[in-house]
Amino acid sequence: MERLLGNERLRSGLSAAFAAGRLSHCYLLAGPPGSGKHTLALILAAAMECTEGARRPCGVCPQCRKVLDGVHPDVVTVDDPARKIISVELIRKARADVYIKPNEGLRKVYIIPRAMDMNAAAQNALLKIMEEPPDYAAFLLLTDGAQRLLPTIRSRSVLLQLSPLSEREGLAELERRFPQKDRAALAAAWERSEGFLGQAVLLLTEGEHLAPETQSFSDCFARRDRLGLTELLVPLERRKREELIPLLTQWIEVLSQALAVRTGQPGRWEAAQRVGRSRTSAESLRALQSLGRAVELLQGNASPGAVCGALQVWLDVSD
Ligand SMILES: [Zn+2]
Repeated sequence: MERLLGNERLRSGLSAAFAAGRLSHCYLLAGPPGSGKHTLALILAAAMECTEGARRPCGVCPQCRKVLDGVHPDVVTVDDPARKIISVELIRKARADVYIKPNEGLRKVYIIPRAMDMNAAAQNALLKIMEEPPDYAAFLLLTDGAQRLLPTIRSRSVLLQLSPLSEREGLAELERRFPQKDRAALAAAWERSEGFLGQAVLLLTEGEHLAPETQSFSDCFARRDRLGLTELLVPLERRKREELIPLLTQWIEVLSQALAVRTGQPGRWEAAQRVGRSRTSAESLRALQSLGRAVELLQGNASPGAVCGALQVWLDVSD
C-alpha cells in the first residue's frame, strides 16, 4: 500500500476493507494520467491474491510478488496496445476466460487499463459478465473520468477517485527520482503538474534528448544483445559517479515508459516503444529493478567499475 503516494483517505478505506476481507467484484479507478491508477490497480490485485490474511497485500508472499512483477497467471490485462479502442472481441475473450477457474490464485483479476476506450458494445458485453460474475472474478477498470463509462457499469462498481498529492509529498518524490536535477527545475515541473506525479515526471523528461548510450542500451535490451550490452558497459566503468547516475536514471525512465506502453499508454520515446514491443512487462521490470539497485549503490559511494560489472550480470538481456 506504501507504493501509492498521498491519497490517505482512499488508502485507509481500502486497508480496512482488505483487512475485513470486504472486496468488491468491480472497482472503477478514476484519475487523470499520472495520478497513480496503474499503481493502485496492482495493489488491489495483490490484495486479492495475497495469502497473508489480515496484512493484505503483504507485498512479500509469492502471490503478491507475482502480481507486483506482472507475472501472475490469474491477473489478466485486457488491452490491445495496437488498437485505438477496446473492442467487444477483447471483452468476449475475457468473458470466455472468466469461467475457467483460477490457475493458482484465489481470484481471477481482469485489469482494463483504458476502460474509457471501450465502445458501447464492449461496455455492454462487460456488463453481462458483471451481472453474474463467478465468485472469484474481479474487474479493475481504469479511466480518466468515471463519467466516461455507462451509468449501469458505474452503479455496479466501487469508485476509487485518485487525488492530487501535496506539494511536500510530490517534491520529495521528484527529488528521489531526479537526484541530478536542481530544486528549481523540480519545483517548476511540480507547479505545472496539478499535483499528479506522473505528469511532473513527463514534464521533466519532455524534450529531454536521450543520450547515445541510452539509445544503445534500449537497442541491446530490445534485441537481447548481450555482447552489445557488455561493449556498452565496459567503457562506462571509467566514467565518474556523477555522470553515471543521471545516465542510468535515464535508462530507468525508458524502461518505465516501456511498461506504460504495454498497458496501452503512448510512449514518448521511440526507444521506449521499441522496448515495450519486444520485451514483456516482467522482463522490463526486472531490468528496471536492477538499474534502481545500481543507482542506489552509486549514491552510496560504490565504484562505477563495480556497479557496471554487476550490471553485466544483473541485466541478463538474453534470458
Ligand atoms: Zn501477500
